[in-house]
Amino acid sequence: MTKYQYFKLKHLIIGVALAAFLITLVSSLWSGYRVNVNTIKENTLETNRVYSQKLAETANAYLEESFQILGYSAKTIAEKMDDEQVLFSETERIKLQNDMFNSVIVTNADGLVLSVSPPSVEVKGEVLTSDGATEALAQKVPLVSKPYEGITGRLLIFISHPIFNDAGQYVGLVAGTIYLKEENVFYKLLGKHYYDDGSYVFVVDEDGRIIYHENPTRINDDAIKNKAVQAVIAGNSGSQQVVNTRGVEMLAGYSAIPLAKWGVVSQRPLEVAMSPSMDHVKNMAYVAMPLLVFCLVLVFWAASRIARPLQQLATFTEESLDTKNVKSLESVSGWYYEASSLKGALVRSLSFLQGQVSFFMDQSTIDPLTGVTNRRTMDALLAEWTDNNLPHAIILLDLDHFKSVNDTYGHAVGDKVLKFLAEKMEAVARDKDVCCRYGGEEFIVLLPQTTVIEAEHIAEQLREILANTVSPCGRAVTLSAGVAEYPKMAETTEALIEAADKALYHAKQTGRNRVIVAGQEKLQEI
Ligand code: GH3
Ligand code: MG
Ligand code: MG
Repeated sequence: MTKYQYFKLKHLIIGVALAAFLITLVSSLWSGYRVNVNTIKENTLETNRVYSQKLAETANAYLEESFQILGYSAKTIAEKMDDEQVLFSETERIKLQNDMFNSVIVTNADGLVLSVSPPSVEVKGEVLTSDGATEALAQKVPLVSKPYEGITGRLLIFISHPIFNDAGQYVGLVAGTIYLKEENVFYKLLGKHYYDDGSYVFVVDEDGRIIYHENPTRINDDAIKNKAVQAVIAGNSGSQQVVNTRGVEMLAGYSAIPLAKWGVVSQRPLEVAMSPSMDHVKNMAYVAMPLLVFCLVLVFWAASRIARPLQQLATFTEESLDTKNVKSLESVSGWYYEASSLKGALVRSLSFLQGQVSFFMDQSTIDPLTGVTNRRTMDALLAEWTDNNLPHAIILLDLDHFKSVNDTYGHAVGDKVLKFLAEKMEAVARDKDVCCRYGGEEFIVLLPQTTVIEAEHIAEQLREILANTVSPCGRAVTLSAGVAEYPKMAETTEALIEAADKALYHAKQTGRNRVIVAGQEKLQEI
């Protein structure tokens, strides 16, 4: 029988259950992750906003204080612009007191440097021509310059206050500088951001140029492309997700420093912020692992339990068809409705089918009148036995004067006598023997593994019973029989039957109601 490679029910159930389970697991992990991501994003944005705001306020206060100090100083030295000693101690004082500036200078109205602290900055006696200084000298108001390169070649910011004498004349300025690329006040104010994970803070001027960054090489870079920078130099404070100038996604908080039109941006890489979320998902997956394993076992067990009855029904149905035995099918436990109905239907239809089959099989092997094996089956049996060299004997028997039974009592009674003979024959025959109707009122008993002596004995028993029992015709009938043995007396079935027939003929000839062994005809005659 061809076996097709179909999927097994058990595997289908396991597959479907597993798929459902995994989809549920993944979707719950995913939604957990999404919620977590949004929360973390919002928290990070808010943290950065608050942080930048705090830094901006501090920086603004510092600037305000610087202007006050410079303003106070301007008043102090307004009438002493020619006293070198006073100017110097004033620049020293400002530098020490405020700690905001890398250097402090005083110039006259033409920009000539009258005093500088520290003196190591050798600009005393020089005239300031840089943009920042020129602008301050021209405008004569407190001013914060844009970053520019000073006389000394340093990138700096110039914070200045005008000096007017008592007569109201402009006599110069007092200014502090911040060296952007050196240790400066921003380092003290902003320090290093509190995370060491790629988060950082930077300060931009009103053009979006970086004036402070923890990485000094970034100072003076143009950061205007960063959306947070655009927002902060427009004077706004807030937070948003942005892409930094290097293409990295950032969660940024920003806040303006109004006094200088600067802005502070505090930002954290999105990926860094999100990494706890991934950890969270991993943790969830780990926590779910024992449950997952438990469910797998459960699914496996349940699938086996559900599939087993159907699987057994499938196997045992095939088996039952082969063995004509529905016992194995009946042993299947139909523990749920479908399996139970299916089993019932299969057992019923197979039993019916097998009843039909055995009915037709009997029909083809049995003589309908007497119920003994028919001639065709007998021939087949004998052929098989001789093919396999199975030693056996046969008794060929014939009722004596049967024609007269028919003639006297009628054909129907004759039939009953034939049945009667068949019964007696079956009664005398052993389990292994096969009684056959050879034709008309002639019968053959096949005796496997039997010698002619034993066969003669059995034939004799039958003859005696018949001769001494009243048959359906109201009196005893007798039989004559010839007995022969294979392969001792004949090597083929035909020869065997012929030998038995000859002996039978002899029995008839010598007076009937007797059994004669083939080859002993002469003996009987003597
Ligand atoms: P013998 O002792 O020489 O055998 O005499 P006999 O009358 O038995 O022999 P014969 O062969 O002349 O007769 C056999 C008879 O058996 C003829 C036939 O009517 C009868 N017979 C054959 N088959 C059946 C059957 O199926 N039913 C009935 N009732 N009679 C049958
Ligand atoms: Mg006959
Ligand atoms: Mg006869």
